[in-house]
Amino acid sequence: MREYDVEVMNLQTATKLEAVEGGFRVTMASGAALTAASVVLSTGARWRKMGVPGEQDYLNKGVAFCPHCDGPLFKGKRIAVIGGGNSGVEAAIDLAGLVAHVTLIEFDKQLRADDVLQRKLRSLKNVTILTHAKTTEVKGDGTRVTGLAYEDRTSGEIREIALEGIFVQIGLMPNTDWLKGTIDLSPRGEIVVDAHGATSMPGVFAAGDCTTTPYKQIVIAMGEGAKASLAAFDHLIRVSAPEEKAA
Ligand SMILES: Cc1cc2nc3c(=O)[nH]c(=O)nc-3n(C[C@H](O)[C@H](O)[C@H](O)COP(=O)(O)OP(=O)(O)OC[C@H]3O[C@@H](n4cnc5c(N)ncnc54)[C@H](O)[C@@H]3O)c2cc1C
Repeated sequence: MREYDVEVMNLQTATKLEAVEGGFRVTMASGAALTAASVVLSTGARWRKMGVPGEQDYLNKGVAFCPHCDGPLFKGKRIAVIGGGNSGVEAAIDLAGLVAHVTLIEFDKQLRADDVLQRKLRSLKNVTILTHAKTTEVKGDGTRVTGLAYEDRTSGEIREIALEGIFVQIGLMPNTDWLKGTIDLSPRGEIVVDAHGATSMPGVFAAGDCTTTPYKQIVIAMGEGAKASLAAFDHLIRVSAPEEKAA
């Protein structure tokens, strides 16, 4: 990107997007504003954390979020997946093919994933499912994860599991709070895009983890970014066409 004439403004947070005469205005937290004929939104998403002691200390030292990305690092090891929704159960199924053992921990009394996923999960020999359980601490030896503690919510007992990895699957939150009420967002807060990356605001496009496009991976985000840029170009040549002259 640096080889091209692209201006990069670091340390700026966009807080408002609005349609104005001839295009759009993006206002920053600093109060500065930019106007543009078209906009591509690509603000990404952040993984929801458990917020328990040890989690932050062992990020990337055993605590992970992306099963496709970091799964191979745990080949042959024991891991836990936190969260029994579709993402957690899909992650557990995926990881069970790689690791020695998976413990899936769900806060609720039952898993919330689709039945078909639950059936698949229960058919796997190296998976233990713990429901009505609340992770209370990530344990480590100072350099890496060695286990976790959880509360059995039925008995109130605190128990420990020895393991090498913990995949937290309790939600991926798109960075789109600032766009609420401006463009259409899905119930999860993702920017709704069509096959061209177009949003509900004509002339505004979006790409990557902040959108409804499935599979949050680098190669997908890059492809979607290229697509949204092409769509923005198509939009620009149309809005810059001269008015038809009266006969
Ligand atoms: C720990 C971890 C490991 C991963 N490993 C892999 C991997 O091995 N392979 C893989 O394919 N994927 C991996 N991923 C996923 C990958 O990082 C994402 O799919 C990809 O980065 C998405 O690109 P994006 O441009 O949509 O969003 P991001 O890369 O998240 O970029 C969004 C940018 O927008 C900025 N931003 C957010 N809000 C605002 C705002 N209001 N104003 C201005 N700027 C804003 C953010 O600061 C950020 O710089 C991993 C993710 C994590 C968290």
